[in-house]
Amino acid sequence: MFEGKVVIVTGGTRGIGLEIARKFAKEKAQVIIFGSKEESVTKAIELLKKEDIVVEGYYPNLNNEAEVTDVINKIYATYKHIDVLVNNAGISASKKITETTYEEFTHIMDVNVNAMFNMIKAVTPYMQKQKDGVILNTSSMVSIYGQPSGVGYPTSKSAVNGLTKSLARELAPFNIRVNAVAPGIINTDMVKNLPKDVIEPLIKTIPLGRIGEPADVANAFIFLASPMASYITGVVLSVDGAARS
Ligand code: NAD
Repeated sequence: MFEGKVVIVTGGTRGIGLEIARKFAKEKAQVIIFGSKEESVTKAIELLKKEDIVVEGYYPNLNNEAEVTDVINKIYATYKHIDVLVNNAGISASKKITETTYEEFTHIMDVNVNAMFNMIKAVTPYMQKQKDGVILNTSSMVSIYGQPSGVGYPTSKSAVNGLTKSLARELAPFNIRVNAVAPGIINTDMVKNLPKDVIEPLIKTIPLGRIGEPADVANAFIFLASPMASYITGVVLSVDGAARS
């Protein structure tokens, strides 16, 4: 479905993003992963190479507009089109508000929201010129109902939903679709670090009776990027085993 398409995945070095990169590459896309560090990007490229999957990688500071624009310009100069942007990089939070510093709160907003702004701003002129493009953002089920601590995280993901819905309207005249995926509890490093006594009661609350796998989430991204979703824009698609309800 994606032969010849150029797909950029931020946070593509592990977890959900790595699986998104893998699935797009298996669908024959030219995949470009962005990570936070050179080592993690190299590690992911090497890991995928062992599976006969070739991807390219960069590690710009996503909060530096000039650095992001520079890398995006280079990618466009090489491929002459950018078809899909997946904004997946993200960090979590768990402290109570009284223990959270202003710097910690704004750091979450920087990584989860402001970086997304930089990425989207950099690719949009190219997608507008092409009159074609798909932008997908990783939200979270907690954007819908919050969580009992770590207020910065649901705050940032609610902002992701707002950004998604607004840009869907703004960019629709250019045939650019903008959607988000809101995963539930997914089996990645982010969740593996949670203590057993936190995770086990959580699993009991999931109607489908299990936590999700990165592939469950990556499939939703593939669908939303594909022509199968050609009339879908401005949605936040829950992929959470109905845990939200
Ligand atoms: P992860 O920690 O395994 O991966 C996070 C990715 O983001 C990594 O590739 C990392 O390099 C990148 N990243 C983190 N900080 C960065 C920074 N400052 N600059 C650039 N890249 C940075 O986490 P994951 O579980 O795979 O999460 C991926 C996305 O899914 C995140 O946006 C997360 O909020 C969201 N999410 C995860 C879950 C879950 O249960 N795992 C649930 C809902 C939403």
